[in-house]
Amino acid sequence: MIEALPSRGVPAEQVLTELKALRDKDLPTHGGRLFAYVYDPAVAGLDDLAMSAYALSAHVNGLDPTAFPSLLATENALVAAAARVLGAGPRTSAPEVVGSVTSGGTESLILAVKAARDARPGIEHPRMVLPVTAHPAFFKAAHYLQVQADGVPVDGQTFQADPEAIARAITPDTVLVVCSAPSYAHGVVDPVTEIAAIALRHNIRCHVDACFGGWALPFLKRLGVDLPAFDFSVPGVTSMSVDLHKYAYCPKGVSVLLHRDAELRKPQFFAFADWPGYTMINPVISSTRSGGPIAAAFATLRHIGDEGYLKLAGQTRDAVQGLAKAVSDVDGLRLLAPAETTVVCFTSDDPRLDLFVLADELSSRGWHTQPQLPYAAMPASIHLTVTAAVAPQVPAFGPALAEAVEAARAHGPVRLPDELLAMAAALTPDQLTPDLVAGLAETFGLTGEAGAGGRMAEVNTILAAAPPRLRERMLIEFVSLLQRPAFS
Ligand SMILES: *Cc1c(COP(=O)(O)O)cnc(C)c1O
Repeated sequence: MIEALPSRGVPAEQVLTELKALRDKDLPTHGGRLFAYVYDPAVAGLDDLAMSAYALSAHVNGLDPTAFPSLLATENALVAAAARVLGAGPRTSAPEVVGSVTSGGTESLILAVKAARDARPGIEHPRMVLPVTAHPAFFKAAHYLQVQADGVPVDGQTFQADPEAIARAITPDTVLVVCSAPSYAHGVVDPVTEIAAIALRHNIRCHVDACFGGWALPFLKRLGVDLPAFDFSVPGVTSMSVDLHKYAYCPKGVSVLLHRDAELRKPQFFAFADWPGYTMINPVISSTRSGGPIAAAFATLRHIGDEGYLKLAGQTRDAVQGLAKAVSDVDGLRLLAPAETTVVCFTSDDPRLDLFVLADELSSRGWHTQPQLPYAAMPASIHLTVTAAVAPQVPAFGPALAEAVEAARAHGPVRLPDELLAMAAALTPDQLTPDLVAGLAETFGLTGEAGAGGRMAEVNTILAAAPPRLRERMLIEFVSLLQRPAFS
């Protein structure tokens, strides 16, 4: 057990050795074999630069931009860069775009929903319309802000948002319409032009969530990839989000939320003067904010530069095509959506080839993918987020996949006792006790003590058998088990 507060302080070198030992159990953040969570451009020297910049500004506080003008200057530069990448700025049809730097995509989306809600104070029960493929952060925003989220089904073949279904779901209380460019799960770009036109017709805000691909799609387009329009050049798009800690390859903790003009942004802000302390104005959710991630992002963008991102996008596109071909070459596997952005998402048509077993077989060979549970009419799938660092790994992926598929077929599909699966399907969320989940976690060895990357097929099979509300409950009970103070 590791102790955070020893009675006598531990020498710096020893602390780092201990941390490194802990980090050894994590999935590898570099090397292009982890297809989720991390974004690696494999640019030599970039990590050192970003960490030096981080250290320079780690103790700067974003609470007050007048006290730390370095932060204001770098934030304004990041917002200008994001605006330019996303089709806005002085020489475009969206010359007045403004924005804020946030801690991540979730914060950007919560603020977009807040701005939309607070711009319409006359609406007592505000609602938002979004495709079911939209990121969960919107549902979290709806939950936090008491906005009703009206999720609408997507096209069953393309997984694109359905503009007509969105139009039908709009009510007089709708304050926001949402679409993705692209969606995280399948990497599919929604028909933004059609959806934004509907929003414009109803005089409702339209947010394009480009958290995931906002720093990749524009460069892919410049390389000739045929993608629909999705940015501020589209009439009716009122706000956009782009995570710099994804395809801008910055260390974690930086996203940008853009609004078409300053009026649209104002209801995002929170100011407070009704107390005896300092007067407070917070453009974003956090008050005290470290300058570290912002300085690191500024250094990353400036070092890679526009040409650098174009080159990285080319490497990513080549890697996506290589992985997609490797998948298509395997009997029984099928791409779930065309691999046109930075995602490869595939499913199995062979009942003897269990995707969850396949994911484990890949993982045990050092390839860490992201299994996705079946949802509505969509089958289970495996998701690969592809970054530039994957390119050199592509030649090794095909043979590894073929071998893992062989092994998964030899292993056969997960077979769990029928009673267990029936229970997962029939239990109501409040019947799920902490003891029951503790028992399951014990059975499957999920105590959080082994390193990452263990076998998950059984757990995924149980989750897959449960309806979404029960899946949520299981996850809450499970993490509540994991997150316990480490007393020694
Ligand atoms: C990652 C992501 C988010 C949420 O971003 P966080 O940085 O994880 O909070 C929102 N939307 C999409 C499409 C994403 O991929």
